[in-house]
Amino acid sequence: MNQSVMPSYGRTDIAFEKGDGPHLYASDGRKFLDFGAGIAVTALGHNHPHLVKALTDQAGSLWHTSNLYHIPQQQKLAERLVETSFADTVFFCNSGAESVEASIKLVRKYHSANGNPERYRMISFEGSFHGRTLATIAAGANDAHRAGFGPAVDGFDHVAFGNINEVRNAVSAETAGIMVEPIQGEGGIRPADDRYLQDLRLLCDEAGLLLMFDEVQTGIGRTGKLWAHQWSGVTPDVMSSAKALGGGFPIGACLATAEAAKGIVPGTHGSTFGGNPLAAACANAVLDVVLEGGFLDHVIEMGNLVEAELEGLVSRYPSVIDSVRGVGMMWGMKCGVPNGELVAKAFDHGLLTVPAGDNVVRFLPPLIVEETHIKEAVGIIETCAQEFGS
Ligand SMILES: *Cc1c(COP(=O)(O)O)cnc(C)c1O
Repeated sequence: MNQSVMPSYGRTDIAFEKGDGPHLYASDGRKFLDFGAGIAVTALGHNHPHLVKALTDQAGSLWHTSNLYHIPQQQKLAERLVETSFADTVFFCNSGAESVEASIKLVRKYHSANGNPERYRMISFEGSFHGRTLATIAAGANDAHRAGFGPAVDGFDHVAFGNINEVRNAVSAETAGIMVEPIQGEGGIRPADDRYLQDLRLLCDEAGLLLMFDEVQTGIGRTGKLWAHQWSGVTPDVMSSAKALGGGFPIGACLATAEAAKGIVPGTHGSTFGGNPLAAACANAVLDVVLEGGFLDHVIEMGNLVEAELEGLVSRYPSVIDSVRGVGMMWGMKCGVPNGELVAKAFDHGLLTVPAGDNVVRFLPPLIVEETHIKEAVGIIETCAQEFGS
């Protein structure tokens, strides 16, 4: 390959030309079971007829107008997100990092609108990932993502994930909010327990901080609830969403309570493409399916099967798979072998998975998978485990 595409990724040597449900077909004829879903994006699998129809119908009438005008598809999408979440209002953008960036700006603006512009700092966590813009690499915990990019954007204080006292000690007169993934995705499927989220909520209420959940990876049914935090009963003031929101069409959103968004008035934030008719039509189509009665029950049911099957692997091959953690269609296998080697072996056997931090291999199948797909995927991991010679 020449470098006409900038070499910012280490890519596996394959390209796909067709997708169908949980399967991908490569240009060299190989067939794969896709348990990466484009990193938790293609939640309804590939080539879903309802999404294809929504996209092509919209493509035949109107693609883009800009946010200088009303966009009815965007309005409808916002109303549905508001109806199905804690939020009163939604800002649309095009990616996860932008949805986090919008959330950070909203949190800062809230305190500024309250007459406290000195409150601009956010507490974020070790192991976190929030995107690749300058502010989101400063928020995230990965030093390698910041290296060589100049002074980090000011305003982020990192603390250990899971220790409420550390968070409490990090709050200062300049703290504006706390940002947390209910389940760390890139960090290695590390769930925050319910009690921890409750404690963060209490701390925010006591100290006048806004609580922001980054649900870019966990949202849109991935965990068996529309939003992962709904398992805990704790609601945030602000939340970012993207990845699965458009089912593969790029769209992101920042959801907020009316109070938290009080600083956002015309001119304060914007995006040329954000929530354009094509993107909003796709996201509406995703919601049509995910909000249908029984859909999330299926995710929970299949998630229980994944858990049981993976626990079986842990007991049979403990030196290869040390432990598993997750919920719904979001699972991490903590490996006793290098995670990249397991991902590569699974690939050779026709299964796509995604590596994560903490030496974890992620299972992020499309939410539409059936028992046979799960058994097949686990069977492939079992074959790989045997090949490691345990
Ligand atoms: C993927 C991800 C992002 C960044 O999303 P992009 O679309 O790549 O910008 C942010 N936060 C979390 C939790 C993510 O998983």
